[in-house]
Amino acid sequence: MPLYEYACPSCEVKFELIRPLSQATEAAECPSCLHNAERVLSTFACFTVDESGLSAPLGGSPCASCGADSCDTCDL
Ligand SMILES: [Zn+2]
Repeated sequence: MPLYEYACPSCEVKFELIRPLSQATEAAECPSCLHNAERVLSTFACFTVDESGLSAPLGGSPCASCGADSCDTCDL
């Protein structure tokens, strides 16, 4: 299963969870304060900065890192 990163808006703790892709966008419980933490996109996420310093374009493929729609970092 893929690894996702979450950030707690209450205590600003960041933590990682391994969970099914189908639960990737669901809120996760902060291990520190038990608040709902929201997913943050890691460096492996879809919208990265390439070598020329330009952000990956939006539109077209839903995932700029794999060029398709089925990798573990695709936010689908
Ligand atoms: Zn917290």
